[in-house]
Amino acid sequence: MSGGLAVAVRELARLPEVWRAPKKSSAELEQRALAGLNAMLAHCHQHIQAYAGPEYKVPLSSVGELAALPLLTKRDVLDAGVDSFRTPGLPSSQYRVDVTSGTTGTKLEVWHDADAYGYHGATVLRRFLLSGYRPWWRIAHIKPFPRPVRWFQRLGLFPRTVVGAGQSDEEIKNQVLAVRPQLIMGYPVVLRGLLRSLTPAESVRLKRTLRMVMTDSELLTDEVAELLADGFGVPVLDEYSAYEVLTVSSQCRAGAMHVDDDRVWLEIVDADGQAVPDGTEGSVVVTHYRERAMPLIRYALGDRAVLLPPGCACGSNLRRMKLVDGRTNDFVVLPGGRRVYSGVFLSLAMFTPGVAECMVRQDEAGAITVHLVPDVAAGVGFEEAVAEFRRRFGELVDTPVELTFVQTDRVALTPGGKGRFVESAYGG
Ligand SMILES: [Zn+2]
Repeated sequence: MSGGLAVAVRELARLPEVWRAPKKSSAELEQRALAGLNAMLAHCHQHIQAYAGPEYKVPLSSVGELAALPLLTKRDVLDAGVDSFRTPGLPSSQYRVDVTSGTTGTKLEVWHDADAYGYHGATVLRRFLLSGYRPWWRIAHIKPFPRPVRWFQRLGLFPRTVVGAGQSDEEIKNQVLAVRPQLIMGYPVVLRGLLRSLTPAESVRLKRTLRMVMTDSELLTDEVAELLADGFGVPVLDEYSAYEVLTVSSQCRAGAMHVDDDRVWLEIVDADGQAVPDGTEGSVVVTHYRERAMPLIRYALGDRAVLLPPGCACGSNLRRMKLVDGRTNDFVVLPGGRRVYSGVFLSLAMFTPGVAECMVRQDEAGAITVHLVPDVAAGVGFEEAVAEFRRRFGELVDTPVELTFVQTDRVALTPGGKGRFVESAYGG
């Protein structure tokens, strides 16, 4: 999914433009996004079956007009057939294939053309360089799959050792320590496990070299970010991405999640697909407007977020966003219809003595089971931890809810390796 000469050449060619983009004014960034959207829409309407309808025959006169077009979900794409979203006749050398990890139960084979991938690669380099990372820092990247070696790594830059996320906490810890990393990258759930398994002496050893932690792919709540920053003693920078549109936003040194406005157009919408005002929570809708192989126009990612007004201490004029709560479908429904999102359970797990992690499952009949991973170091018994968790949950939701507790030794990871904290099969 990365590497390859065609992409490398484009990454380098795009780098100067990508590097300058955050310094452009908000108005210019928006104008450029509008031009990018219009170029993509013209291509889509002319070449791609799914966009042959008259509603797509538009030059937009403002980015806001994008909201007049229909929303698209993964289900819609699968039902209509993925081929109808692809540019026909594209030689296989001109695109790369990504398969979504299927956290929502359905896999989607997404195509990204070399141009779109190259521009994205340049924005990833921008993310690293703006974060304060130095290109010679050793990286321990905890990942479920091995990663291909990139062209710049052959030059000795961004030296990375991949540590398999599927191993035991002990094995992960030993391999990370052996790297003597300046940067550790991984999912929050795995990084929390790493923190728990470090002895005080090992923690000291790790901190001698460690300068930064980067998290990805899973909701990082403020509490978890704080826990990781305290535990590792270094800044923790998050990013937000999806296979369908690649990176949406990444965190700067000033702590803001900046949207890649020069590659994707992000909308935060209400239940009717209409934009909500800045600062108001809604659903994430993304259009990767540089994509030509398989453009997904107004693609609903299923996450909840707010857009924040422009302006950041780091000097970037790229828009800022903040994820809240978790994926739109990561919730359980209480009697009376109230939804409780994964962020609530993550916080509960963190602040309840004796609890390291939790996973919540709701069955078709609505019964809720909480799988608790005990925090052995806290010296609190399982029954005691359960009672406290139950009490705090009752306080939070303020309504009687029947919970069943089960003891487990680790959070189930999805095929993509993320922690899947909340899952509900309950429709009502
Ligand atoms: Zn910033």
